[in-house]
This record gives sequence, structure tokens and C-alpha cells, in this order.
Amino acid sequence: MFNEVLSLILQRSCPLCDRATAKYLCVDCQRRLERDQLTNPTEFWQQRIFAWGDYTDTLKRTLAALKYDRHPELGILLGEALARSWIAAKLQSGKLTVIPIPMHLEKQKQRGYNQAELISRAFCQMTGDSHHPSGLRRVRATEALFGLSPQDREQTLTQAFDLGKGIKQNRPVLLIDDIHTTGATARAAIQVLHRHQIRVLGIAVVAKPRFEKR
Ligand SMILES: [Zn+2]
Repeated sequence: MFNEVLSLILQRSCPLCDRATAKYLCVDCQRRLERDQLTNPTEFWQQRIFAWGDYTDTLKRTLAALKYDRHPELGILLGEALARSWIAAKLQSGKLTVIPIPMHLEKQKQRGYNQAELISRAFCQMTGDSHHPSGLRRVRATEALFGLSPQDREQTLTQAFDLGKGIKQNRPVLLIDDIHTTGATARAAIQVLHRHQIRVLGIAVVAKPRFEKR
């Protein structure tokens, strides 16, 4: 995994525009990405959602490159960006258990990695929080969700997760995902943790659509 990331970085061509670059993105794309950063990442904190950026334009393209175009190194870029804004927001003083939302296993096998885990790993390296990539497990296939009504979808999702290993019950959990859309996935994950008397501080995501589409 590390070598794969390294070799991708050493190619040094911007994954969004193919221009040469020494960084994850070229200067222009990086600047454009920063335009999608929310001025107030705690805008949704009342609902316990912390978001780095608006799911639009360059951030949307960066996430697509991370997920569908084999650019795992962008998970580091986005995880560090999320960590910087999280640290600046000072929402938590003690150490957290950080758990990425797990992917459906078949999907992860195809992709080779879980983008939420890459983001949370980079996040923890910067914040010093405790990273638990296997804190939650997917226990059933949820690929058929698209055809379901919102209620059925929610019901299917609550059975989608199980508690993994090594979670300290006395430490609050911060969930991490790449994007927060309907919130059904996050709610299902939180339910499982609550069922095991684990406190959940909230969920931190790289992108959140500002206006929910129904
Ligand atoms: Zn570029």
C-alpha cells in the first residue's frame, strides 16, 4: 500500500489535469480545491457533522479521482486538510477513537482500499488521535440500497454494521467518511456504537452537499 502511494506521488502529474506537479495536485487545482472549503466547518455541528468542504466542483472531482481513478494518495491530502480544520475548530480536548465508515467488502476488494480509511489515517497522523480502521465491520451487502425507499434503506442499513475489535469504551468516537449525503450510513454506524454503550462525538467528513437534493 505504502509503495503504491509512493510510486503514484513520484509520477508527479496532477490527477485532475495531468500537468506536472511536485505535490498531490498542481498549484491551480489546489487553489481551486481550496475554494470549495467551507468558511465554517461547524455549520452542521448541531447535527454533529463536521465538514471540510462543499461537495461541488473541484472537491467533487478530487473525491472522484480518489475513489474511481486509483489515486489513493488524495486520501492523504484530504485527510490532512480535514485534520487541519478539525484542530482549528477545537471541538474536543481529549484523545478520540477515530473510526472510518467501512465499505462494503466486495467493493473494497475491487477498489483495493477504503477511501474513508485513507482519510482517517492521515487525519489521525496529524491530530494524534487513535486510529481504529476495523472498529466497525460491514456485515451485510447493501449494494441494493438504490432501489429502496428511504425507510427501507434505513432499515437495511441498521443491519449493515457490527462492532469490530479493540474499541475502548471510555473514549469518545469520531467517525470519518469521505462524504455525508443522506446521513443514513452515519446513523446506522452510530446506532451500533450506542448499542455497545460507546459515546459518539460526531462524524467528520471531507465533503457535504450544502443543499440536500431530495
Ligand atoms: Zn491540476
